Amino acid sequence: MGLALIKARLAQAERAAGRAEGSVTLIAVSKVQPNARVEAVLRDGHRVFGENYVQETAGKWPEWRAEFPDAQVHMIGPLQTNKAKQALDLFDAIHTLDRSSLVKKLATLAQARGACPDIFVQVNTGSEPQKAGVLPDELDGFLKDVIAADLPVRGLMCIPPEGDDPMPHFNALGQMAARNGLSGLSMGMSSDFEAAVAAGATHIRVGSALFGARDYGHQS
Ligand SMILES: *Cc1c(COP(=O)(O)O)cnc(C)c1O
Repeated sequence: MGLALIKARLAQAERAAGRAEGSVTLIAVSKVQPNARVEAVLRDGHRVFGENYVQETAGKWPEWRAEFPDAQVHMIGPLQTNKAKQALDLFDAIHTLDRSSLVKKLATLAQARGACPDIFVQVNTGSEPQKAGVLPDELDGFLKDVIAADLPVRGLMCIPPEGDDPMPHFNALGQMAARNGLSGLSMGMSSDFEAAVAAGATHIRVGSALFGARDYGHQS
């Protein structure tokens, strides 16, 4: 079981960065993992999880939430506009707001229900053509629209390009958040979360290092 080990590594990274222990939220990314592995981590007392797919979340989390009412589930995958309504019912936070059509949709839905999950704006720090996220040059204008729409934006999220040194991307995301007065930084995964903590991450998203490799062929 990887939870104790990941928590120890996180605490060590917090100390090394001169940050308070417990100041970084560990999001346990449970997408595509066998239910038994997720339940073991829930029983071990962990309460913050990340999922990528609305359908998968709708299939498994209502039952776990009934048993563990203080569990939180964060949406970290791309969100289709036509699944936004379902997402508001399923998630405590959405890390992947990245386009105006979704801003409008979420704002309308949130107004109607009088509540909205915490919002992070995804930034395409590497300006990769195929990747989701707001381009760095367009971020400040986009954030103005998000705030004007009254969405509770808490911070920024990024996934650095594969093969790149992630540190310049983490640092750039931190600067973008600071100049926009945002305190949340969702960055760092299994392979690079210690670097992300050093760069100021407030939320790290750790899947395979905690649960083991994902097997996309045999979903439970
Ligand atoms: C799957 C996923 C993760 C977890 O990745 P690991 O490398 O398994 O830690 C983190 N963030 C996002 C956005 C993901 O899609």
